[in-house]
Amino acid sequence: MMIVFLGPPGAGKGTQAETISKEKKIPHISSGNLLREAVEAGTETGKKARNYIEKGLLVPDQIVVDIIKDRILKNDSKAGFVLDGFPRTLSQAKVLDEMLKNLGKSLDMVFYFSVSRESVVQRLSGRLICGTCGANYHKIYVPSSKDGLCDKCGGKLNQRADDKPETILERLRVYHEQTEGLIDYYKKSGILREILSDDRRIEMITKNISDIIEDTVQKKSLIGRGVN
Ligand code: AMP
Repeated sequence: MMIVFLGPPGAGKGTQAETISKEKKIPHISSGNLLREAVEAGTETGKKARNYIEKGLLVPDQIVVDIIKDRILKNDSKAGFVLDGFPRTLSQAKVLDEMLKNLGKSLDMVFYFSVSRESVVQRLSGRLICGTCGANYHKIYVPSSKDGLCDKCGGKLNQRADDKPETILERLRVYHEQTEGLIDYYKKSGILREILSDDRRIEMITKNISDIIEDTVQKKSLIGRGVN
């Protein structure tokens, strides 16, 4: 299953991608995580990307496309993947289609996470991430039991540099200007599924996504066996 999670920052894509990746045994490929890893490792790519990320702007297409291509060509992505945060521009979407076509494949589904602007701002401004294992918390909605420390590994919880109020608003503006148009792009190709991500429990949303994937897998296998 080749799946894309599309939606504004703070819509819950990363959290859901983690769970679905484990459930379906396909890798979670997050462009944001790959870029942050490059920044931390101090690679040439990381040095180029850092400024854009800190300002809440999109990293130039070519840099992100190269990182994603390398990742998708790894062996563990052959049976599928959950792409989270990529594509974010029309040109990225076209490159992805072309790349999969060259591999004799195509995207199976794009989940669009729809969520209100208020929820996004609330979620991002309270979000805390474990510096050691990457687990996600929220100051109010998903607090850790030990103040400032991760329940899973004891690591220190930090706010992401781009989760500061002014950067959150910039990221939302950029999403609206450069990414939102992809909803129509994928609607036209008939693979878009909308997921309401506002006030529902995380497990309910996971079940919703998981059921849609199962349904699609079954339909594909029936078509493959010539049953309509
Ligand atoms: P995320 O973790 O998905 O919220 O991404 C964090 C930041 O990484 C974004 O605000 C961008 O600066 C950068 N980034 C992640 N994915 C992309 C992408 N597909 N295209 C351009 N920039 C990206």
